Amino acid sequence: MKERPCSLCAEVEKEPPDVRIVFRKDINLHKPNRVIVMPRAHTPGMHELSEYTLGERTGLWTAAINKGKEMWGDRWGVAYNGDGVRTQCHAHLHVSRLLDGVEWGEPLIVDSPAEIPLPEGHAMWIHPVGGKLHVHRDDQIAETVLLR
Ligand SMILES: [Zn+2]
Ligand SMILES: [Zn+2]
Repeated sequence: MKERPCSLCAEVEKEPPDVRIVFRKDINLHKPNRVIVMPRAHTPGMHELSEYTLGERTGLWTAAINKGKEMWGDRWGVAYNGDGVRTQCHAHLHVSRLLDGVEWGEPLIVDSPAEIPLPEGHAMWIHPVGGKLHVHRDDQIAETVLLR
């Protein structure tokens, strides 16, 4: 598959090659509280999370969660939009405060970022509950559970 460079691909290229994770404020002015967390590395294909190794994915989720904790304490949320709605190819997670009252569905409950499963095309959002992580799978758009 041919690489499709997007603006996020260009953004991570601004960092030195030995940087593993890149953090950026969302450039959308209507989303002033959002931070985007990305792996520095590209993948040969469409930059889906499944194209990164488990170690790389765990590092990415961990970095996003730590950023969320730093900004919002235990009210953080991390979201990954589904393949159908992503406009940027480079893999990226959205971090902000989880909105009040968005708990719904049947989340998978895991102990650590290493246990977060692959999204398999759909959207996911993750937040902490009682020392564990809720992994919610949503249809396509997950970032709407986060403060803009
Ligand atoms: Zn890229
Ligand atoms: Zn939940």
